[in-house]
Amino acid sequence: MTTNRQFLLARRPTGAATRDDFTYQEQPLADLAEGQVRVKNQYLSLDPAMRGWMNEGKSYIAPVGLGQVMRALGVGEVVESRHPGFAKGDFVNGALGVQDYFQGEPGGFYKVDPKVAPLPLYLSALGMTGMTAYFALLDTGAPKAGDTVVISGAAGAVGSIAGQIAKVKGCRVVGIAGGKDKCQFLMDELGFDGVIDYKNEDVVAGLKRECPKGVDVYFDNVGGDILDAVLSRLALRARVVICGAISQYNNKTAIKGPANYLSLLVNRARMEGFVVIDHAANFASAGAEMAGWLAKGQVKSKEHIVEGLQTFPETLMKLFSGENFGKLILKV
Ligand code: NDP
Repeated sequence: MTTNRQFLLARRPTGAATRDDFTYQEQPLADLAEGQVRVKNQYLSLDPAMRGWMNEGKSYIAPVGLGQVMRALGVGEVVESRHPGFAKGDFVNGALGVQDYFQGEPGGFYKVDPKVAPLPLYLSALGMTGMTAYFALLDTGAPKAGDTVVISGAAGAVGSIAGQIAKVKGCRVVGIAGGKDKCQFLMDELGFDGVIDYKNEDVVAGLKRECPKGVDVYFDNVGGDILDAVLSRLALRARVVICGAISQYNNKTAIKGPANYLSLLVNRARMEGFVVIDHAANFASAGAEMAGWLAKGQVKSKEHIVEGLQTFPETLMKLFSGENFGKLILKV
């Protein structure tokens, strides 16, 4: 009998999540029922959104229930199938959960090919991360050549891809990231035009230096004080994309909203929320375009892979301390 190691949500965290918020268990796998697949999970995507899924309350997706396997996207191999759409040996991408094996109906799963791209890439540039960067920037941000595009969380998974797409589109790209190494990487490896190290310099002063004509598109991954600082530097008819607000996800008090929002009025600017799953119908064409950029070296994907399912709670929290450098992935 095969044993399945699993992390279940034990309670709803206050502030940062810890190992005590999860129950670790080892369970024997039952026989497969008709319509089900068994997937051996290989890589799990660790996303800031997972912290939000642990909270109760209305969001764009239902919270993880207490006692349920912690939700995580991942890629793995079908090792047994009683579903007509999937066969043993297929590789799939889907909500596999923080466990060794997914077993159940493969709702929303799709096939990926490890001969075309390494499996982790299907969780980074060719997965939800890349799709977020692509649609949040191009659809909601609507950049034009020559625009100044500012991106926070710029050395992270979504931010680094979004910045490179903005370069492909002929924009001047300024990244906001924490620390010298990440800022250097953005300039030297990814070809950003300017950087602001928010941990070591004043962001408003950095924006004045790097964006003398103001900010046409702001791609926000962090919210809080950095959002407020960028609002104070908007150009006429700027677009502010609210993709995420990681600085606020572990708050024990109310979320800090922007004080400088009247800059939207003065500059006839707009600020719009974005959720990647709204674009699912167009993932295939966007993925094909992304694959082309990757092949030509116009977009580079950096993955930060940590080994061992057992490390899950601590590895997840690296996202909030900035310890991840690239797309954070757990190798099961
Ligand atoms: P990242 O790879 O960017 O990792 C998170 C990074 O955020 C850290 O490395 C750290 O970088 C930065 N960070 C953490 N805490 C703070 C803070 N207090 N202030 C400023 N920066 C901080 O993660 P992802 O690329 O996966 O996600 C980026 C954002 O995109 C998140 O907000 C996420 O929720 C959002 N997202 C939204 C989606 C949507 O559909 N709306 C879909 C997917 C992601 P540093 O070292 O520079 O501080």
